[in-house]
Amino acid sequence: MTRFDYDLFVIGGGSGGVRAARIAAEHGARVAIAESFRYGGTCVIRGCVPKKLFVYASEYRHTLADAAAYGWDTAGPARFDWATLIANKDAEIDRLNGIYIKLLERAGVEIFHGRATLDDAHTVAIDGAEPKRVTAQTILIATGSRPRLPHIPGGEHVITSNEAFHLPRLPAHITVVGGGYIAVEFAHIFAGMGASVSLVHRGAKVLRGFDDDVRADVTEGLASHSGVDNRLSNEINRIDKLPSGRLQATLKTGGTLETDVILCAIGRIPNTDNMGLEAIGVSLQDEGAVAVSAQSQTTVNNIFAVGDCTDRVNLTPIAIREGQAFADAQFGGGVAEVDYEHIPTAVFSQPPVGTVGLTEAQARERYGDIDIYLSRFRPMKYTLPGRQERTMMKLVVDRDSQRVVGVHMVGLDAAEMIQCVAVAVRMGATKADLDATVAVHPTTAEELVLMRTKTR
Ligand code: FAD
Ligand code: NDP
Repeated sequence: MTRFDYDLFVIGGGSGGVRAARIAAEHGARVAIAESFRYGGTCVIRGCVPKKLFVYASEYRHTLADAAAYGWDTAGPARFDWATLIANKDAEIDRLNGIYIKLLERAGVEIFHGRATLDDAHTVAIDGAEPKRVTAQTILIATGSRPRLPHIPGGEHVITSNEAFHLPRLPAHITVVGGGYIAVEFAHIFAGMGASVSLVHRGAKVLRGFDDDVRADVTEGLASHSGVDNRLSNEINRIDKLPSGRLQATLKTGGTLETDVILCAIGRIPNTDNMGLEAIGVSLQDEGAVAVSAQSQTTVNNIFAVGDCTDRVNLTPIAIREGQAFADAQFGGGVAEVDYEHIPTAVFSQPPVGTVGLTEAQARERYGDIDIYLSRFRPMKYTLPGRQERTMMKLVVDRDSQRVVGVHMVGLDAAEMIQCVAVAVRMGATKADLDATVAVHPTTAEELVLMRTKTR
């Protein structure tokens, strides 16, 4: 008889926590999990999933506008109804939330609804309707992250992506602050739905860290595709609420911006405060990220951490991999380390970004001599409607080995294409392998195997 109530207690029912709990239970461990908000976590409840549903909703603006050129009579101006979208989205999120709970139940995981904190390295206190104290041999922290808030006068008037999913109505004008994934995605989303959008970003281009050609095309695409009023190299210094109820943002460069809603997307902060972590010896880094080894072990031997709360690569598939690797290693005799090389990622801008591997600048630094193949073209789909939007595809090739070390795309279906390209890049495909692959015609993807002339 063990002296602990459970073999594993997982704190946080999001992407990483749910995967770890389920897999550990399937390996035979006695597992419990606590969630303070809703099972499914950020991705399912107020992240990837509702965001992607909003992207789909928003894209209909262009689809409907282009339909006439293909012979469709869409009779009268199309109207967008925010309330319908919100109701349908909420129903889908409820369905997924239920599925997550069922998955855990079916695996035999004991489920708690409440916020969990640590009394000591083996004792978890759960608040809520029926506060409880339980013990576990191993503890996994998978508490995710929350939006960073601005520290400026009037900062209390902003909303974050959390609230954007529940606005009572579509704002006539919205100001998005930031230039990362969330700011770019939401600027397009609201523009597509019919709002006027201003984007205030402190940099000259959005998506810092991405390949420069991607950054240039996405920055330009905000204005040309979605009509976003880009206020670059700028910041909001203060926000005032006007008697009309609208907001007035004072900009660093002078001047003001009157708007209905200010959505701040300036990064996220790990959810690790007031959990008793430091008191029991779990080291935290800047802004509270849990310090972990390559095996996701914290500075306390029996306590592990995965996902956004460790601020490694803050994406759902990574949180899931880290959760799976942890559970396999601790309870199934598997390997604990996750491979962080060649992580493909997409930004659901309009058009979307798909990217894997090194940027041109990173490859130049690592390999010295590199070859760049870059193509910009108008997809066939836009010929009849006369849409000028272009697709950009770029291959970064190490000149010595001829290996394709980076692929970057902005354009129709780029997010779908990059998943398959990532397999080839991960397997070490060379430029000659791409050249030898027969094209699928007529597609936009065929350009990937048809680029023959070096751009630089
Ligand atoms: P989470 O999913 O955040 O789960 C942590 C859970 O722990 C939460 O449910 C929280 O309520 C709970 N919790 C916190 N503290 C406690 C406590 N003390 N006790 C009990 N429970 C607690 N990633 C992608 O890959 N693709 C995308 O398209 C994408 N879109 C996104 C869009 C938005 C708007 C946002 C905000 C994020 C998006 N992400 C996307 C990122 C992705 O959502 C996260 O990387 C992922 O959810 C991290 O999983 P996690 O398990 O670490 O944390
Ligand atoms: P990001 O880290 O992607 O971007 C943050 C942005 O805010 C940057 O442009 C940054 O500017 C700016 N910023 C940071 N601090 C300030 C400040 N004090 N004042 C003004 N601007 C500031 O964070 P997001 O919030 O957009 O998203 C969080 C994470 O969630 C992402 O990094 C990603 O990992 C994940 N995510 C993934 C998605 C996907 O896979 N499609 C979609 C949405 C989120 P600068 O560049 O100058 O530092």
